[in-house]
Amino acid sequence: MKTLNEYIGCIHVHTIFSDGSGSYPQIIQAAKEAGLDYLMVSDHMTLRGREEGFSDWYDNLFVSVGYEIQDKDDRHHYLAFGLDKMLPAEYGHEEYIKAVRDAGALGIAAHPLEQRDENLSLPGFPAITWSSLDYPEIEVVEIWNMMSHWLEATTIRNKYWNVIHPRSFSTSPANDLMNWWDETNLTRKVVGIGSVDAHATKVKVLGLFSKAIFDYKIMFKSIRTHILSEQKIKNMNATDTETEIIKAIKSGRCFVSNYRRGDARGFRFNIHTNQKDLQMGETGSATSGNLNVILPRKAVCIVFRNGEPYHDDFTEHLEIEVPEGIYRVEVVHGKRGWIYSNHIKLISE
Ligand SMILES: [Zn+2]
Ligand SMILES: [Zn+2]
Repeated sequence: MKTLNEYIGCIHVHTIFSDGSGSYPQIIQAAKEAGLDYLMVSDHMTLRGREEGFSDWYDNLFVSVGYEIQDKDDRHHYLAFGLDKMLPAEYGHEEYIKAVRDAGALGIAAHPLEQRDENLSLPGFPAITWSSLDYPEIEVVEIWNMMSHWLEATTIRNKYWNVIHPRSFSTSPANDLMNWWDETNLTRKVVGIGSVDAHATKVKVLGLFSKAIFDYKIMFKSIRTHILSEQKIKNMNATDTETEIIKAIKSGRCFVSNYRRGDARGFRFNIHTNQKDLQMGETGSATSGNLNVILPRKAVCIVFRNGEPYHDDFTEHLEIEVPEGIYRVEVVHGKRGWIYSNHIKLISE
C-alpha cells in the first residue's frame, strides 16, 4: 500500500479584509497554536490577502488565499481557491461555477442547504442557500459548516448557552445534506469537505458585554479537513503546495473530522480489489472487494453503501468483504459525529 502524507487544515476563514474580526498575523498565530498544517482563507468578494502576498508558508503552516463569491442577490456562495484574479463581479452563479472549473481551480459550494427557523432564529442572519445544487460543475461541497450549523441551531431561546459553549451544539452534519450527497454520488462524483466559516464575529450577547463568537482558535479546534497527499508538501514552494492541496481535495483524497471528539489523525479507509488499492475519491471496477478502515482509537464505525447504513462495529480496525457499491464511512461517539470519509466506488462492468 502506498504511504500517504496526512495534512490537517481548516477551510473557509474570513479576515478583516471582509467581515472577519482578525488580521492575517492574528489568524496565522491562532492556526499555528491549534496545530494546523494548512489554512484556506476566503474573504467575501476580495483577493486582497492574495494580492498582499499572504498566500505562503509560515513555518509549518501553509496559507492559501482564495475568495468567497456571491451573486448580486447575495446567494449561491461559492469558495474559489487557486485563482490569481477575481472573476467579473457581475457573473451569476451558473457563470462562476463554470469559470472556476474551467480555470482548473477549486470551487466549493458553501453552506449549500442552510436553513433557519424564521420565528426563532437570531435577527440579522438570514439563511443563504443555493436554489439547486444539481450542476455538474460543482465538484466539491461543504458537508459540515461550523458557523452555518451554529446559526441553524441557535435560536432566541438558547443563544446564551450556544454563545458560551459554541462547539457543544454541533454534533453531526445535517441529514438532508448528507442524503443529497450520497444520492448525488450514485450518479456523479461530488467531494465533501468540512469548513469553519470563521468570522470571530463580535455580538452583543447579554446586552452588557460583547464576545467574539467563535474565537479563531476555538474554530480551528472544531471542523477540520484532513488531506492525504502523495507528496511531502513541507519542502515545496508556495505555488506547488497550493496545487497539491487543491489536487488532493478535488480528487476526494480527504476526510472531515470534528476535533472536539478527538484527534482523527491516522484514520484510513480503503477498498482492495485484486487489481487495485482504492483510496477515497477513487472508482474501481470489480464485483467485490476488501473494505478496510483503520481508526485512531476504538469507536463506532458505520459503513454506508449506496446511501444506506450497511455495517457497523465498535472497533479500531474494520475489515469486511463487500459487493459492488458506493461506500463511505462515518465514525461516531454516542450520537456525536467524529469522522466522515469521502466515497469509494466499486462498480462491476
Ligand atoms: Zn457564505
Ligand atoms: Zn463565509
